[in-house]
Amino acid sequence: MSHARLNFFKVLLSQHMARLAIVGAGLSGLAAAWSLRSHPIDITLFEKSRGYSGRAATRGKYGARYDHGANFVMPSSDRVRSLLFDHLPTDSLVQIDGEVWTFDDAGQIEKPSASNGSTDSWTYERGISTLGKLIGRQASAQTLTETRVAHLGRLNGRWTVTDTEAETHGPFDAVLLTPPAPQTATLLADTAAELGEETMTERVSSLSDVVDNVRYHAQFTYVFGFDRTIERAGPYHGLLNADGGHDVAWIGFEHDKPARAPDGENIIVIQMSPDWTRTRVDADPDSFLSAAKEGASDVLGASLKRPTWYDTQRWRYSMPVEGANVDALADGADAGLFFAGDYVAGVGRIGPAIETGLDAAARIGDHLA
Ligand SMILES: Cc1cc2nc3c(=O)[nH]c(=O)nc-3n(C[C@H](O)[C@H](O)[C@H](O)COP(=O)(O)OP(=O)(O)OC[C@H]3O[C@@H](n4cnc5c(N)ncnc54)[C@H](O)[C@@H]3O)c2cc1C
Repeated sequence: MSHARLNFFKVLLSQHMARLAIVGAGLSGLAAAWSLRSHPIDITLFEKSRGYSGRAATRGKYGARYDHGANFVMPSSDRVRSLLFDHLPTDSLVQIDGEVWTFDDAGQIEKPSASNGSTDSWTYERGISTLGKLIGRQASAQTLTETRVAHLGRLNGRWTVTDTEAETHGPFDAVLLTPPAPQTATLLADTAAELGEETMTERVSSLSDVVDNVRYHAQFTYVFGFDRTIERAGPYHGLLNADGGHDVAWIGFEHDKPARAPDGENIIVIQMSPDWTRTRVDADPDSFLSAAKEGASDVLGASLKRPTWYDTQRWRYSMPVEGANVDALADGADAGLFFAGDYVAGVGRIGPAIETGLDAAARIGDHLA
């Protein structure tokens, strides 16, 4: 059945359908909505930012397009590969040429063995956020953007969702929470503070504690545009600090991705290390432009002075340090509370985050059947 037809029947049936709230339209939340698209479930996605895709983020500025969060997606499993290549449109999907080389803590560049250096790395011409947009387009869910969820509540044994404008939505039969662990823990703690039902308050508090145990790295991203060529010592499109002790964690040649930079322009993306960022995370990232440029220049052996433009991003929660206790999280299921996101997978990568969304969708489908 076509999606338009399916949507038509869903609207007709929606009065009688089970209702699901998904908090977060990053790739885990979107993958869950997408996976449930042909189920008789009325889905509402709540997203605090203006669009889809979360940390798989792209900006268009200064005549360029650049990925300031995740650099690329690697098809980490058959399910993710099938989503990318069989289900979603592939006309703007592009493989990134070149290799990822490494540098040590002293900044010495090394070419890894062939199997490590060449990557199965993919992005989209308009940026990695296209992935979220494409999944969102196929998922038949109502999306409320610029809607930050403050807490959940209870109404006649079902869940309500209250946003930071104090508007309450629902009720819903199930809720899937997908923000990074620290944000999910706060949301659950605020929910427990609001609930009047003693048993449910205890359960939500203990789920909040489980999620609160997961720590996240912070990272600053710096993006610099140049009207000249930045020289490099090999056919790499990215350099990764293998040992994790350098101030710089990643240097990417963003203009290697097709259709990103005007002719003749180079774009360098620098991600600072979690250790370097930790002590600066509350400061303005602009205060450290020189440190970022100098750190990357030393590694590249090429000057990054006098860019024509720059951009910065503070990722307070960039990637999980560890995974959650998934058995303890499963305790939420019979109350209709489900969890997905990279911290559930235990690794800050798009593919595994998508997997957690697909897994959560299967559990939600069973719960609501
Ligand atoms: C700098 C950086 C580089 C990276 N590089 C790579 C890479 O090269 N390859 C790779 O595979 N992965 C990379 N990653 C990791 C990858 O981006 C993430 O693992 C993945 O995108 C996580 O998806 P998610 O759905 O779990 O979370 P998110 O993408 O964070 O989605 C959660 C969503 O919830 C929303 N939200 C949060 N709180 C609320 C609320 N209260 N109400 C409503 N909405 C809310 C957020 O706005 C967000 O859209 C990188 C990440 C960063 C930050």
